[in-house]
Amino acid sequence: MSTPTTTPALSAPAANAPFEQTTIERRPLRDNDIRIDIRFAGICHSDIHQVREEWGKSTFPMVPGHEIAGVVAEVGPAVTRHQVGDQVGVGCMVDSCGECEMCKNGEEQFCEKGAVFTYGDEGYDGEITLGGYAQSIVVSERFACRIPDGLPLDQAAPLLCAGITTYAPLKRWGAGPGKKVAVVGMGGLGHMGVKLAAAMGAEVTVLSRTLDKADDAATYGAAHQLSTKDPETFERLAGSFDLILNTVSADLPMGDYLGLLKPYGALVNVGLPTGDYAFAPGAVVGRSKVLAGSMIGGIPDTQEMLDFCAEHGIGATVETIDASQVDEAYDKVVAGDVRYRYVIDVATIQPGA
Ligand code: NAP
Ligand code: ZN
Repeated sequence: MSTPTTTPALSAPAANAPFEQTTIERRPLRDNDIRIDIRFAGICHSDIHQVREEWGKSTFPMVPGHEIAGVVAEVGPAVTRHQVGDQVGVGCMVDSCGECEMCKNGEEQFCEKGAVFTYGDEGYDGEITLGGYAQSIVVSERFACRIPDGLPLDQAAPLLCAGITTYAPLKRWGAGPGKKVAVVGMGGLGHMGVKLAAAMGAEVTVLSRTLDKADDAATYGAAHQLSTKDPETFERLAGSFDLILNTVSADLPMGDYLGLLKPYGALVNVGLPTGDYAFAPGAVVGRSKVLAGSMIGGIPDTQEMLDFCAEHGIGATVETIDASQVDEAYDKVVAGDVRYRYVIDVATIQPGA
């Protein structure tokens, strides 16, 4: 019979309060659970929205982190998918009913019972989940994906959210050869959107507030980069794109971006600011356009995305930081000062520091 374990973790005690380096408990392994020694945890803008209560009330203390990469340290007796020593990743979900239509289709994020999110959510056992800014985690084997050997764990961690969140809509909306795809915002999600859309064979345009990232965008496979601060951009590109992937963490004038679509084109939002969309009905009716949203992706797609990344030599571009730098890193992400994802080296977490 397995016993609970403790692990060093970074915990936010209250909204906007600095992180504390502390120790948390992980549950004893259930039959289908694995324990993962976490090596790196990415900082997603969604972590910041939640720690800062920008989406409404959050549950504290909070251990954020849903871009988790590590190595399997222990397996429960009924585990079949993973072995001790395997490289694995965990993203935004840690449980779902496994029986509803959505779960059976591999779309666990839309589970009818409600998927359990990796942190700040109530699990089916009534416990509040604690995420990946920690040195270990216990999860059901269903929610751990294989990280192929060729992918370094620091570059792989952000794939578990930023990677799948951009891969799923690019796949669903047909990014590929002969398609013109724009990626709006080049941050953590955006830079992955550029790499993935280019690897899928699309002609990629980056729409960023600044042209400072143009060289990086070209390296990642973008054919063009234009500034959204320049009003001429919107005139020049009117009616150009089959697909626009909006990854921006702030409110945008949606009508202006809809104007950039070809007839039947789709603007897919993954960014989650809090304002309302404002656009005239004619902006979508006029040329039969689509305004869509997309939320993360299911486990089979996440595995497919990791395999695709390994095959194409794609990882996230990361800046590795210590546990003591996380508060500062949050401010830098909000200021757009990151190239392109911070990942925490969780070995540096020292309880009591
Ligand atoms: P991020 O690294 O901060 O990138 C956001 C980018 O948006 C920035 O790099 C910047 O790009 C642009 N931006 C920021 N503030 C802006 C402003 N005031 N006006 C115009 N552009 C601005 O964030 P992220 O981690 O990629 O996350 C992006 C958004 O996606 C967040 O809202 C997050 O919560 C959400 N998200 C959604 C899902 C989902 O399932 N749908 C999953 C994960 C994250 P430029 O400097 O290049 O313009
Ligand atoms: Zn995320």
